[in-house]
Amino acid sequence: MRKIKPLNLMDNKGFWPEKIAIVDAIREVLTLSECTCSLPVRDYGHYRDPEWRGEENDLLPYRSVDWYVYDALSEKRMQVDCRRILKSFAEEPWRDEKMLGDHYDLFVMQEDMFNGAGAQRDYVVGRARGLTAAVISTHRLETMWGMPYSYLKTEVMRQLCFMFGLPNMDREDVHADENGHYCPNRCILRPAHVAPDDWDRLTEDRLTTGALCGSCLDDLRRFFEQAAAEGD
Ligand SMILES: [Zn+2]
Repeated sequence: MRKIKPLNLMDNKGFWPEKIAIVDAIREVLTLSECTCSLPVRDYGHYRDPEWRGEENDLLPYRSVDWYVYDALSEKRMQVDCRRILKSFAEEPWRDEKMLGDHYDLFVMQEDMFNGAGAQRDYVVGRARGLTAAVISTHRLETMWGMPYSYLKTEVMRQLCFMFGLPNMDREDVHADENGHYCPNRCILRPAHVAPDDWDRLTEDRLTTGALCGSCLDDLRRFFEQAAAEGD
């Protein structure tokens, strides 16, 4: 899979002032990466195909963000199964070269999310699939005493980095669990479980010492160096 390709944004949140945090986060990651290449960003908003419902008013597969959410929703838990929705993004017909072709998807939704059958934790805030897609739930980040803009920016930056394969698994200090692999340093790629507290800490670090530690910054720059060489 290529590394440089369009990044498609989608959300299902309607009018929402914090949305600009997504663009802000993308810009900061690209600035940190020092890449000279362009990553075209396309905003599909609350994506719905002109024909998104069938004759029975049913949601047609892949034709709306409503379908991606509904298809992955556990009615028992009233939470979205993050593995299932990421699988839908990975297998969607739009990836065909005759359609949109290869791209990244970044979807921000209001529904709560969990880690699929057998999940050890009650919820997850964000999850990425390498070089394919990332999904973020704002459900736990929007609290009355929190900073929804800053938390969302932190989480978008995190999931973009995870989607780009950071931190590099060849590093000896990187550790993995059922959810992914993480950096042990003071860095936004540390594990985060308890919302909004952990996002509050990550955001504080991002604002005081910078988003990424030296090792992760190297990983990010290497990713874009390899990406720039793709076209050769
Ligand atoms: Zn790090």
